[in-house]
Amino acid sequence: ASGYSLLRNPQHNKGLAFNEKERDAHYLRGLLPPACVTQELQEKKIMHNLRQYQVPLQRYVSMMDLQERNEKLFYKLLIDHVEELLPIVYTPTVGEACQKYGSIFRHPQGLYISLNERGKILEVLRNWPERNIQVIVVTDGERILGLGDLGCQGMGIPVGKLALYTALGGLRPSACLPVTIDVGTNNEQLLKDEFYIGLRRRRATGQEYAELMHEFMTAVKQRYGEKVLIQFEDFANHNAFELLAKYRKTHLVFNDDIQGTASVVLAGLFAALNIVGGTLAEHSFLFLGAGEAGTGIAELIAREMSKQTKAPLEETRKKIWMVDSKGLIVSSRKESLQHFKKPWAHDHEPVSNLLDAVKAIKPTVLIGSSGVGRTFTKEVVEAMATFNEKPIILALSNPTTQSECSAEEAYTWSKGRAIFASGSPFDPVEYDGKIFVPGQANNAYVFPGFGLGLVISGATRVHDDMLLAASEALAQQVTQENLDKGLIYPPFSNIRKISAHIAANVAAKAYELGLASRLPCPKDLVKYAESCMYNPGYRSYR
Ligand code: NAP
Ligand code: MN
Repeated sequence: ASGYSLLRNPQHNKGLAFNEKERDAHYLRGLLPPACVTQELQEKKIMHNLRQYQVPLQRYVSMMDLQERNEKLFYKLLIDHVEELLPIVYTPTVGEACQKYGSIFRHPQGLYISLNERGKILEVLRNWPERNIQVIVVTDGERILGLGDLGCQGMGIPVGKLALYTALGGLRPSACLPVTIDVGTNNEQLLKDEFYIGLRRRRATGQEYAELMHEFMTAVKQRYGEKVLIQFEDFANHNAFELLAKYRKTHLVFNDDIQGTASVVLAGLFAALNIVGGTLAEHSFLFLGAGEAGTGIAELIAREMSKQTKAPLEETRKKIWMVDSKGLIVSSRKESLQHFKKPWAHDHEPVSNLLDAVKAIKPTVLIGSSGVGRTFTKEVVEAMATFNEKPIILALSNPTTQSECSAEEAYTWSKGRAIFASGSPFDPVEYDGKIFVPGQANNAYVFPGFGLGLVISGATRVHDDMLLAASEALAQQVTQENLDKGLIYPPFSNIRKISAHIAANVAAKAYELGLASRLPCPKDLVKYAESCMYNPGYRSYR
């Protein structure tokens, strides 16, 4: 190939880091200025440039340009500066990027499969240049973070999630495929937006929707085989639960909002118990938001309690209460509830709002999964602090604008007693002369390592016990030093090591359950997982 095309191939391009010999051997003479630099110097330069931008969206666009220009440098940056760059390529900035995706759109970064491609999805998959795909993240854009229906512009989410699969979990970039299914959007603003990139029609539903999804799921298996992992992301809950139930029997699928979030939150609770004491079953839980995240987390907590106490699930579920947009979920509402809420309808008189529910239930743990910001008010946090020495408060909704409360509010209103974590990052807070470091309860802790564990074991199905295995591995990575600062998650700076441990525990579970196809099982799974991880350092070309 010519030097010119080498410079335009993001997988191979090294820019000024091509050395003299490479410049001779690959027809690069004259196509580059004389300076030869190291990858470290390039990294330093780009970080310097990024920091000049005051607007986060500019940093996002600049990172996406880098990904298109020099993939290894992009990942090296992301890995070496994960805490600084995660809020750019992921929540909260990715949310704004999706909202404005039409106007910042430069280059397609994944596959767009719309109703126009009906009957031709297998051909569409063949248009993608890579043959060996290990992980697909797919969305239909209907519930992007807590921002609602963003239609085709939801593509930013699969792109961002897969960047983390590589940077945090070590999967090869070429093995990752972002997909957006476009069946229309009900977002009037987008339908009117001249820069909108998707189909200009209202969402297809029912059979039309199901058939397109089914064609996609079938084509994926046909093209990439039995062991490709399909991660459902940011589907609205009326489709999410159904798709998961339907395809978990035939495909290697997992829904990050329902299952990944559950695994991460359970890990945080395991860690928090080291601070507040007691067993899981001795605590009581109240959720604001009874959708994918809320009921997914609740179910995993109930399963774990039942495992620990040998009490049946029906019993352990009674320790968990939920508030949705209509108030506390109670038995008298059962008939009218969506099926995923029914297990959480317990006997109680109706309660119409969160504050009254908090006062009535007196939970030790309050979890926000509503997608609605500023709902953990001063009164709510104060109430939690009246009957708990150390209330556990998790504000999971993303992006930052939708967070149920801020870190500062949680610490101030609880007079420094809350154990707090949030879905999007908050800076440390000083209260009463003490520094509190909020943890980030985000599924980014689990899905990269979880996916790596499935891939290295050749798993063919996802089992709920694998989610528990991931929780345990993550919780084990929280040190006493972290706990002393009030942190119930380890810092993201160690995420590759954390992912290797999660992967190893998940893979071990896959072998134990007989769901692994890559035999024999490696002796040291942690070492093996580490050895499989993608390295963003340049290779030398001769
Ligand atoms: P979802 O399935 O649509 O569920 C939202 C739930 O919130 C529904 O039960 C809804 O009630 C309830 N709700 C909405 N407005 C409310 C209000 N004003 N008061 C009380 N309840 C209200 O959404 P999801 O998938 O669970 O996601 C919810 C949020 O969690 C999003 O912001 C998302 O970004 C975040 N999330 C975070 C993570 C993480 O890792 N931190 C992971 C996944 C999701 P009805 O059922 O009555 O409509
Ligand atoms: Mn999500």
